[in-house]
Amino acid sequence: MMTPYGKQEITSDDIESVVKVLKSDFLTQGPAVPQFEKALCDYAGSSYAVAVNSCTSALHIACLALGLTSKDIVWTSPITFVASANCARYCGASVDFVDVDPETALMSVDKLREKLIEASKNNRLPKIVIPVHFAGQPCDMKEIYVLSKEYGFKIIEDAAHAIGAKYQGKLIGCCQYSDITVFSFHPVKIITTGEGGCALTNDKSLADRMTLYRSHGITRDPEQMTKISKEKWYYEQTCLGFNYRLTDIQAALGSSQLARINDIVRKRTKIADWYDKNINLGLLSPLTRKENRESSHHLYVLIIKKGGVDRDKVYRHLIDSGIGVNLHYIPVYRQPYFNMKIRLPGAEQYYKSAISLPIFPAIGEKKLSKIVREIENICK
Ligand SMILES: *Cc1c(COP(=O)(O)O)cnc(C)c1O
Repeated sequence: MMTPYGKQEITSDDIESVVKVLKSDFLTQGPAVPQFEKALCDYAGSSYAVAVNSCTSALHIACLALGLTSKDIVWTSPITFVASANCARYCGASVDFVDVDPETALMSVDKLREKLIEASKNNRLPKIVIPVHFAGQPCDMKEIYVLSKEYGFKIIEDAAHAIGAKYQGKLIGCCQYSDITVFSFHPVKIITTGEGGCALTNDKSLADRMTLYRSHGITRDPEQMTKISKEKWYYEQTCLGFNYRLTDIQAALGSSQLARINDIVRKRTKIADWYDKNINLGLLSPLTRKENRESSHHLYVLIIKKGGVDRDKVYRHLIDSGIGVNLHYIPVYRQPYFNMKIRLPGAEQYYKSAISLPIFPAIGEKKLSKIVREIENICK
């Protein structure tokens, strides 16, 4: 059987929480979603959380709440899942990419600064920049934040990989250096709700707007209505929203998973440390770990060094040995949909040399040893 690169961990407590909701009065729009949102705020240290049916939806309503229109530009990292860029396109905005540091696959602050200087000359500054905490390692948020003040852009942290990660001692999600942070609860990510996501912020008006967009633009809050009514059935649609709601079934699973997130991240960290220690790093190197931050280790990526073995050969050998290695990611600007001619050197270098090894809490030392053995077999 193929060892996958990532896999959810479901406990009997998780199952019990879900069954409890199934036996209750509400499958959706009941108490479990606000409970999950409160737990996420308490955990990450943000004031507001808006839970939705995917991280992609969270990115979309985050862009809308920040007022993104078809006249605007969004910049993100090319080494990410396509959703980080698609959210801009949903709003009709155009997308451009800031190159990454090939050693970390994180948005390069130097490249961002260069690009901002250029863009300010041409009046093509971005309205929103979306840094991606790739593999679970936080970006240089403080430096990006300083640039946001200088050049007047908003920041959405794409933390789909990074719930449980820390930057300068604080959990990702506290939004110290951003307007909004989004999480994903897809089964391959750190914690899961099946499908699901969340947008966190410290700004009440952003939270209110995202809440509207999540559910058809409908409000029952008298303060947000144009007309005063005492009738309980009265509501108003104040903008064009969507049905991006998370169900109570999913939220219950999320709360149950979140309760043991420290344990999950500890297990992932142990696996990453084990790989670091046990893979002979002559021809290969892990992503560089940056100072003053703790990764949640969503992915474990090896970089094949210059003059080393052929990445595709390593990839095929490991797949043939039943090891579900993967490639995260094809630079988004290469996707036919985006139809872009650019080739950013950092992203290209990373793309031709990276390989993601399996990492998930239940993997076990026997599987890990086999993976390392097979890597040694192909690299010697
Ligand atoms: C998974 C992922 C998303 C999208 O998450 P969904 O919950 O599947 O919509 C967005 N950005 C990144 C970096 C991701 O890895």
